Amino acid sequence: MFKKVLIANRGEIALRIHRACKEMGISTVAIHSTADSDAMHVRMADESVCVGPPAASQSYLSIPNIISACEITGAEAIHPGYGFLSENASFVQIVEDHGLKFIGPTSEHIRLMGDKITAKETMLNLGVPCVPGSAGGVPTLEEAVEASKQIGFPLIVKATAGGGGRGMKLARTADDLKVAFQTARSEAKAAFGNDEVYLERYLGNPRHIEIQVFGDGRGGAIHLGERDCSLQRRHQKVLEESPSPVIDDPTRERIGKVCADAIARIKYAGAGTIEFLYEDGEFFFIEMNTRLQVEHPVTEAVYGIDLVKEQIQVAAGMPLSRSQNELRPVGHAIECRINAERLPDFQPSPGKVKTYYAPGGLGVRMDSAIYDGYVIPPYYDSLIGKLIVHGADREKAIARLKRALSELIVDGISTTTPLFDALLEEEDILTGNYNIHWLEGWLEGWLERQNTRRA
Ligand code: ADP
Repeated sequence: MFKKVLIANRGEIALRIHRACKEMGISTVAIHSTADSDAMHVRMADESVCVGPPAASQSYLSIPNIISACEITGAEAIHPGYGFLSENASFVQIVEDHGLKFIGPTSEHIRLMGDKITAKETMLNLGVPCVPGSAGGVPTLEEAVEASKQIGFPLIVKATAGGGGRGMKLARTADDLKVAFQTARSEAKAAFGNDEVYLERYLGNPRHIEIQVFGDGRGGAIHLGERDCSLQRRHQKVLEESPSPVIDDPTRERIGKVCADAIARIKYAGAGTIEFLYEDGEFFFIEMNTRLQVEHPVTEAVYGIDLVKEQIQVAAGMPLSRSQNELRPVGHAIECRINAERLPDFQPSPGKVKTYYAPGGLGVRMDSAIYDGYVIPPYYDSLIGKLIVHGADREKAIARLKRALSELIVDGISTTTPLFDALLEEEDILTGNYNIHWLEGWLEGWLERQNTRRA
């Protein structure tokens, strides 16, 4: 097992990884920018190295500085968390070339899944059902028009390098195709330096269901059921739950097996998430994330497993701690992403946290790195905490979530907490009757009501 791991991230996820390391007897090295000198992940880690100025491009994304930090401290492995360098195949290659271990899949697997066109082709060949669409990239508008005749409208133009909901444009009719095609391409070029796009049938009423998988790198793999992440704003997840209100045991076993078999066949190592849109009882693959997800704690809650420890174990060449038949989901878990944002318009709200009080009690987990007096810097993602509850069933989990939300105190800045209080009063949320478009529609009405109240 590793003696020392460098955590190439910040915020709640850096702390989350630190916690797993400590329980495994591994010492930790935090990296930080000059804006994060007082961050909790830096305070908690055994050692820390400043890797650059506030801009992520010069610190958390600076490969030479991170490799140097490993060399200075003698760390043998790097855990990338999510975001930043977690799905950067060249980084993984450089890490390996320096004789260090990357806690995650190989650079080949990251590259394979990082390109959505290649990922779809690979998954189709492995027997995973995909959203119908163009066969590969469409380099010209003429080819897009040609492909659209097969797919039909509405359709979605997607960047093969896309992520975070960017480089995705909807074309409702043939008239929209030109603009959608051109804007998706230019957005993709600006955001990812790659303007290749492809077309996909636009699903009108799907849920976002994702399967957590884990490979041992030697052809063994397990799945840990699904997470329902259908509550989204601008293609970003807001609340996640497991199990999904619409997936029954036989369906979970069936799709879980398809996914585990697929990653076993490619000898995938570590944690991965296979994302699907689910409509009328059918699954359609959209992408695979080759890293730990923000929402991994809901899976940990229902399966009673520490996914970060599993990642570290697999990276150290050890087997997975459980086999498929030892895994049974128990109860129901829900996660709320708490952002430092001002409602109703979701404007970033960085600044000083005067008071922070985390909810607690049975079945409540608050993953956060903020504390009294902490100043949230304006340079990074606005996620400041994840509140995860676990209950015997969905109804009990919801009751617990309401109770936990009422205990949470974050004074001094604005957070998205009131959004969850309001959502948990909605009949559709209580009954689980929502799809990927539900939240945006609901928000429109809610924003209007908030604005009238303020006027
Ligand atoms: P990203 O990598 O940018 O997150 P994804 O391919 O994972 O992009 O899609 C993100 C979200 O966009 C999905 O969860 C879903 O809400 C929506 N979406 C993606 N593809 C489609 C589609 N074919 N039809 C309808 N909605 C889609």
